[in-house]
Amino acid sequence: MPADGLTITVLGSGTSVGVPTIGCHCAVCTSSDPRDNRLRPSILVSYCGRNVLIDTTPDFRFQALRARIERLDAIVFTHAHADHIMGLDDVRPFNFRQRTTIPMYGSEDTIAAVRRVFEYIFSERGAESSIPKLDPHAIDGQPFDLFGLEFTPIPLLHGRNSIYGYRFGAAAYLTDHSAIPEESAGKLRGLDVLFLDALRRKPHPTHTTVARALEHVEQLAPRRAFFTHICHDLPHEETERSLPQHVRLAYDGLRIEVGGRE
Ligand SMILES: [Zn+2]
Ligand SMILES: [Zn+2]
Ligand SMILES: [Zn+2]
Repeated sequence: MPADGLTITVLGSGTSVGVPTIGCHCAVCTSSDPRDNRLRPSILVSYCGRNVLIDTTPDFRFQALRARIERLDAIVFTHAHADHIMGLDDVRPFNFRQRTTIPMYGSEDTIAAVRRVFEYIFSERGAESSIPKLDPHAIDGQPFDLFGLEFTPIPLLHGRNSIYGYRFGAAAYLTDHSAIPEESAGKLRGLDVLFLDALRRKPHPTHTTVARALEHVEQLAPRRAFFTHICHDLPHEETERSLPQHVRLAYDGLRIEVGGRE
C-alpha cells in the first residue's frame, strides 16, 4: 500500500444508458435525491500525487470537471464497451497541461478495440489538429506496476466475454460481470473495499443482480462493499435500507479512503 494511503473517487455509478435514462419518467429518473443521478461507470484511484482513471466513459469530460481532476497519470480499461471507452478523446486537456503522453492499459482485445474505434488517434498519418497522446500497453493477465502500486487484472465473465476487473492494494473494482470465476475469487481475499456490479434485482444476461452481488460479498468477505453500474430500478435510499451496514450503493462523487487490510 502507498505510504500516504489511497483514495477512490466514484466518477460514475450508473449503467450504460445512465440515470436518469432518456425519456423515462420513473420514480428514480425523476428523483430529487442527487444519489439517484448516475453517470456512466468509472472511478479515479489517487495515491502519492498520482491519478489513475479506470475507464473513460462518454461522460468523462463532465466527470473530470465535476470532480476537479487536474492531472491524469494513467488510464486502465476494464473492457471496450461504449460506456467504458467513448470519452477517451476528452483526455486531451491533460496532455496539454502536463505536456506528457498518458499510458493506457487493457487486455489485448480491449486495446485492439480502442485502436479500432479511435483510429484517428493511433493512425500513422499524423494529425492536423490536436489528438490525445496515448501510449497503449496490452496486458497479459499479469500484475503491473503503476507509480509504486501493483494493479492485478481479475478475469471476470461479462456474458460471453471475458473482461478485467482490477485489484490494487486492499481495494478491487469489479464492474460489468455476470460471474466471478473461482480462480479470480482467490485473488480477492483480505480486501478493505470491494466494488461490485449490481445492475438491478431482475436477472440480466451480462450483469449481476443485487442478490447475487450480496452472495459475492458473503463469499469474498471484504470489510466494505459498494455496488455500482446501477440502473433506474434501484432507488438509492430505499435500496440501501435493504442492505447490510457494510454494503452500500456507490453514488457519483463518493470518496472512499482505502485502509490496509491484507
Ligand atoms: Zn458497462
Ligand atoms: Zn427511469
Ligand atoms: Zn460492458
